Amino acid sequence: MGTNEKAEFASQYSLPTPGSDSPSFTRKPYRFSTLCATVENPNSSHKDQHGSSSVPIYQTATFKGIGGEYDYTRSGNPTRTHLEHHIAKISSAQHAFAVSSGMAALDVITRLLKPGSEVIAGDDIYGGTNRLLTYLRTHMGVTVHHIDTTKPSTVLPVLNPGKTAMVLLETPTNPLLKIVDIAGISSMVKEKCPDAIIVVDNTMMSPYLQRPLEHGADIVYDSATKYLSGHHDLMAGVITCNRDDLAQQMAFTINAVGNALTPFDSFLLLRGTKTLAIRMDRQQSTSLLVAQMLQKLGFVVHYPGLPDHPGREIHERIADGYGAVLSFETGDKELSERIVGATRLWGISVSFGCVNSLISMPCVMSHASIDPATRAERGLPEDLIRLCVGIEDPADLLDDLRHALVEANAITLAANDFVRIPTVVNKAAEKLALSEPRVERRNLEVAQEWFVSAPGKVILFGEHAVVHGVTALAASVDLRCYGLTTPRYDNKISAHFANISNFYHEWDIDSLPWDVVTAVLPGDVHPEALDQKLLDAINERALPPADRMPPKSQPAALAFLYLYMALSHGNQRPAFNFSIRSTLPVGAGLGSSAAFSACIATTILLLYKRITAPRPPAPTRPPTKNEPGHLHTSHDGRRAIPQGTAEEINRWAYVSEQVLHGNPSGVDNSVVVYGGALSYTKPGFGKKSGMDKVHGFKSLKFLLVDSKIGRNTKQLVANVAQKKMEEPEAVAKMFDAIQSISDEARLALDDPEMPREQLLNALAAYITENHEYLVRMGVSHETLETIRAKCNAYNLSTKLTGAGGGGCAVTLVPDDFSDNDLKSLINDLAGANFDPYLTSVGGSGLGILSPYNRSPLNAGEPVNGSVTPPETPTDEVNGELAPKSLREHFISIKAEDLNQWADARGQWMFV
Ligand code: PLP
Repeated sequence: MGTNEKAEFASQYSLPTPGSDSPSFTRKPYRFSTLCATVENPNSSHKDQHGSSSVPIYQTATFKGIGGEYDYTRSGNPTRTHLEHHIAKISSAQHAFAVSSGMAALDVITRLLKPGSEVIAGDDIYGGTNRLLTYLRTHMGVTVHHIDTTKPSTVLPVLNPGKTAMVLLETPTNPLLKIVDIAGISSMVKEKCPDAIIVVDNTMMSPYLQRPLEHGADIVYDSATKYLSGHHDLMAGVITCNRDDLAQQMAFTINAVGNALTPFDSFLLLRGTKTLAIRMDRQQSTSLLVAQMLQKLGFVVHYPGLPDHPGREIHERIADGYGAVLSFETGDKELSERIVGATRLWGISVSFGCVNSLISMPCVMSHASIDPATRAERGLPEDLIRLCVGIEDPADLLDDLRHALVEANAITLAANDFVRIPTVVNKAAEKLALSEPRVERRNLEVAQEWFVSAPGKVILFGEHAVVHGVTALAASVDLRCYGLTTPRYDNKISAHFANISNFYHEWDIDSLPWDVVTAVLPGDVHPEALDQKLLDAINERALPPADRMPPKSQPAALAFLYLYMALSHGNQRPAFNFSIRSTLPVGAGLGSSAAFSACIATTILLLYKRITAPRPPAPTRPPTKNEPGHLHTSHDGRRAIPQGTAEEINRWAYVSEQVLHGNPSGVDNSVVVYGGALSYTKPGFGKKSGMDKVHGFKSLKFLLVDSKIGRNTKQLVANVAQKKMEEPEAVAKMFDAIQSISDEARLALDDPEMPREQLLNALAAYITENHEYLVRMGVSHETLETIRAKCNAYNLSTKLTGAGGGGCAVTLVPDDFSDNDLKSLINDLAGANFDPYLTSVGGSGLGILSPYNRSPLNAGEPVNGSVTPPETPTDEVNGELAPKSLREHFISIKAEDLNQWADARGQWMFV
């Protein structure tokens, strides 16, 4: 460099960082974001002639005149000078250069090397860096040692005094976020090889979070394409250093090869840099949330902000934050590809540092230029996913990622929380898909059969009065609905409602009105109001005309399709048959619709893998051939279905109840899902409202008698309201009395000390009393009174149950009531054309059963050493025709045998 050139260099590139103290009064040095936002004039004698507050773009190649500060833009340009001055200021640097890309920056830096020079570089470095180093090795006679720079001890053996010219470090490394002790390595290198220069690629951190010149680095460069610009709208690289000799050499190269940043890009980069700190703050805080979520789900997560991240302590010594890049391992490359492909908000892109979030798989994208063997050698997992977090709303980013993980089958909802599906199960599922050509991939989830069952309910006390704020007591009855799901392979679904005029219909899945569906994604709850557009579309485009459907089948089919469509997510549209049978009288006010709702909700949630249920506890001994399953529907109170799963089922059962009834109270679906008994007080009456489980509920024997007198529930409710208006005092007194009945009954049922006989007597008295009020309200009817009289003849207490529409009577049967008397009462009632059902009240809620006992419901746990979901038996088993399919059995079995038959299929799990 000649003297003139030196003078030129000094004027253009020696840009001291402005001091922050004034001689007249002392100020605290400006903090980083202030430095970022304020762009100063590099040369105070050259004020902008118009006083522009933003640095103008000097979009010119040449400058007029002789001997001026600028003559040719390759050598210098005022816009670029402003930028370089600004970069130097925020990087604790004396010198800064802006070039055309991050790689151009490294190119400029590596031109300090000579043939024979040795370079030490990390083994987990940016792929482009690796590519350039390989080029230098193969074409320029430079020796490159790749070592694990996270272990400073590995540096020593490759240090070669006189030869080692450069140590190239990156921390945290990309994409594994390994931490390198810049200060430690720097002092170790300088001691043995004082001429070697320490170069740091600071792209992952930006000058805001890390200024390596303060920790012993000689040259620092950034791909300014990333955080410094922040918007992915330009390519740039910046180089900073404090050594004049190095700065001079690099200035020469930049001028000689002509890769300095253009005026327009200099302007853009300067603009982006002003918001660096504020962007980084947001990006970092969200990154921590994402890392924590993934770690909680059980993935191996690489992020220095996590407490257990190796080297975190070193990182905290060097850096002021953890950055906004993290990576995680899924254990399976295909799974990772599915996850990356399933995100919507996270754009698939190499690169990072932008305001919008990005996702990538380094091994197939940014690091693809490193051959697979080297990747393996360097411990770069093929399944690694890199996340570069932007400034979007953190909740949206977390949601989107969760949805992608669910869609890719990496996680699933269990116990109302997301849990990881072990990779081994995913692998097994894939294998099954490959080996079973008939089974479409999307049908995989249903290549298994299962039962669900839900009880009915009775209102024991407080019907009608409940509408006016009185507490009602409701309990499950051991008459149940049973649903069976079996797979199909023809892209159709079918619904068979055996107890609604044997309704059967099947639909081509693709013909359903998917265009109007607003799917409720896993983890989301259904909006309060039903999706009217979807209801209309199903009615108009999927269901047969109403006059061609048996009564009650239309709302049932509507609810079924509504749930099937609203719960669909991703490309999942499983094909299956669903059959439902009931030992409950349908439409008798005994909760058949709630039981139906709970069954379809459970079935469809299971189909979409939105819920899983744990494997039932192993039997103490295997059931013998003639012995029913390990658990019986009359229940031992065992709760094998987790609470969270039950809650999810209940929420969707309620949605189905909304389709069926418009504005249900939520009591019926809750009783049938949770079983036992609960008390319910309607909100809006100035007292404690809501549902409360009656904990000590003892199973009671009841005779339910269907009067088969169908009446209009709505009308009956309206009549009571009218009465309340006409005789407010009398009705208020009745309601008070019913409230006392409910309260006392609840206390009695909850009281563990109360002798059984005393409890039964008390309940019998409450039943009689409550019924008298129902009569006075005008909701009983003649036929029901006939039933009552027949039961009273045996000294039993009977009352109407429910709002009266179903016309069902409940009669408490004491433990000591003789079998003979019971038989004769039942005969008597049946003889009078009533339908009596002997049942117990207060038993189990919802049940799920896999008939093959290789629990498909427990995707996470191998059962009997197997992780394969149970397959549906085909027609041929070991060359012999299999006995009738489960579905045929299920449909043909006699109603009275249904309970026992279902019990014998396997082990039920109950809420
Ligand atoms: N260094 C790191 C860590 C990078 O991630 C990149 C680009 O992704 C570069 C350097 C190269 O920068 P550029 O693409 O601006 O040339």
